[in-house]
Amino acid sequence: MDYDTYASNAVELAIDLANADRAVDGWSAEFLRAHDEWFSPGSPRDLDAGGARAAAETADLVRAVALATTQAEVLDRLNALLSRAHPQPHATDHDGELHLHYTPADAPVLDQLTTTVAMGLAQVVAQHGWQRLGVCSAEGCGNVYVDTSRNASRRYCSNTCASRSTVAAYRARRKV
Ligand SMILES: [Zn+2]
Ligand SMILES: [Zn+2]
Repeated sequence: MDYDTYASNAVELAIDLANADRAVDGWSAEFLRAHDEWFSPGSPRDLDAGGARAAAETADLVRAVALATTQAEVLDRLNALLSRAHPQPHATDHDGELHLHYTPADAPVLDQLTTTVAMGLAQVVAQHGWQRLGVCSAEGCGNVYVDTSRNASRRYCSNTCASRSTVAAYRARRKV
């Protein structure tokens, strides 16, 4: 599917946040480190306890949007997510190409995260439909995904889950 690259990348950040393993101590610092390219160089990367909680709430809202089964639910949850965002469009050419960010470079890292996730998700839902979001069909997974395939046929969060499920289905058939 052919969509604006920044928003489509930002939705991947949202999905990664929703799927982040929060059972691990210091998960938010770990997440920020793993997605370093999303945050302006030099902005302090550490979240305090309140910041980590806010990031967790944002993650829960992204997941809630992906799990919604009616448009009314999507609107409710998406608007709850958007109410946490502080978008201020910012033009930049940090990678050589002139493009827009949702927040200026000097916004606190929590704002950069929340706003980019909320705006990226909202943009993709508004342009391509909330049916593009789903939850992985692999047994025991539960990760959410965004379906960027042309025919909207995605059912798994990853190739790992897709092949695990194919093998399981094959074994189940062989037993009959
Ligand atoms: Zn950029
Ligand atoms: Zn999965």
